[in-house]
Amino acid sequence: MLDSFGRSIEYLRLSITDRCNLRCRYCMPEEGVPPLAHADILSYEELLRVAGSCVALGLSKIRVTGGEPLVRRGVVDFIAQLAALPGAPEITLTTNGLLLAELAGPLKAAGLQRVNVSLDTLHPERFATLTRRDGLAQVLAGLAAAEAAELNPVKVNVIPLKGVNDDELLDFARLTLRHHWEVRFIEFMPISPDL
Ligand code: SF4
Repeated sequence: MLDSFGRSIEYLRLSITDRCNLRCRYCMPEEGVPPLAHADILSYEELLRVAGSCVALGLSKIRVTGGEPLVRRGVVDFIAQLAALPGAPEITLTTNGLLLAELAGPLKAAGLQRVNVSLDTLHPERFATLTRRDGLAQVLAGLAAAEAAELNPVKVNVIPLKGVNDDELLDFARLTLRHHWEVRFIEFMPISPDL
């Protein structure tokens, strides 16, 4: 499949839910966003049909995203079905990591190859302020579980924010000396007035 500039399109991002178990200040308001009705989001069967058609057209990599994809019930079975598509696409997932400690092993067994974890601070109080939830310990446990499950290289996506976490960039970089992780600094895209 080629775009209008003749470039090969090989990569599909599949958002499977608009829901999330965090409330990051740069993403959504404290009360969250009104959730879509189940009837208004694609079922797993419909998502599989879309993904299968894209793979048949030549896409070789599918990234599952959200919202937070791990909050959608049945996500492990869905990953297994994606991995079993004819053409055997590479399956990756972007997550905030809160549920990864319990799901990394089952996801790997289902056919997930790699995982990107979004994490902006290594300080528990800052994490609570930024995401409006406690949970840094859970995310760090999720990262460790992903590494143990060999979802490697685990990628850690950090958004540097001036005056908020820009004193932690070296601490994040140092993590790569101790772990089989890749730390990436991602450009901030302001979509919420709360930061
Ligand atoms: S984890 Fe991602 S989807 Fe959830 S609130 Fe934060 S930025 Fe938004």
